[in-house]
Amino acid sequence: MNLKNLQEKIKILNEKTATQYRLYSQKEKEILTKTVKLNEEVGELCNDILSILKLQRKAKLQKFDRRNMYEEFADVIITAMQLAIAAGVDVERAVGDKLKKIDERYLKERYLKTAPKNK
Ligand SMILES: [Mg+2]
Repeated sequence: MNLKNLQEKIKILNEKTATQYRLYSQKEKEILTKTVKLNEEVGELCNDILSILKLQRKAKLQKFDRRNMYEEFADVIITAMQLAIAAGVDVERAVGDKLKKIDERYLKERYLKTAPKNK
């Protein structure tokens, strides 16, 4: 299969699945837009992390400014909060519940490691 054939097959697939990906409401469009934006911001943060670890091309490293990472963390958090608002998620409750779950898992794993084994 060459790329032209593949493109034709994907075009047919797109026509078959088009209705599954249709957005109807303004709210759905807002959520999708903010999800894509969050992905963009995470990508920018990844880019800065790669620069700090000196895993980028030389040309990118020369343009890199460490202060960017500071701003990118803020961008990720702000954009995630915007998405949460659009999706109707109570961030305080969600984060609190998740931290509790992590604590419980950590305590359980720690207990399992230190508990005497029954023979
Ligand atoms: Mg950014």
